[in-house]
Amino acid sequence: METDAVRERLLKRRDELRQRASDASADLRHEADPLSADFAEQVTQRENDDVLGAISHSARAELQQVEAALRRLAQGRYTTCAVCGGDIEPERLAAVPYTDKCRACAEGARPMPGRGRPGG
Ligand SMILES: [Zn+2]
Repeated sequence: METDAVRERLLKRRDELRQRASDASADLRHEADPLSADFAEQVTQRENDDVLGAISHSARAELQQVEAALRRLAQGRYTTCAVCGGDIEPERLAAVPYTDKCRACAEGARPMPGRGRPGG
């Protein structure tokens, strides 16, 4: 595996995500677009905020994964599955460069961990 190329790719992705998260946050704070005095207009703005919040949230979540992948890369554990300890398939890493699970473990897991755990 070309560690340097992977690191470059992850660093580039990290910068993109940081930019996206901070852009969405700035919009959420209405730095350039203050809340309207008009109620109907405010409703539209708040709906837009929900979308921005989701963008910001997903960018931050991916950012954490990318940063974790960079740490694993530095520690020489980048290709090691965090669940079973086996090797992560190279084609899987090519498709999802920040993954920490092999295909079998990833498919066994729920794709999107929800808020809170059902049934404890
Ligand atoms: Zn695994």
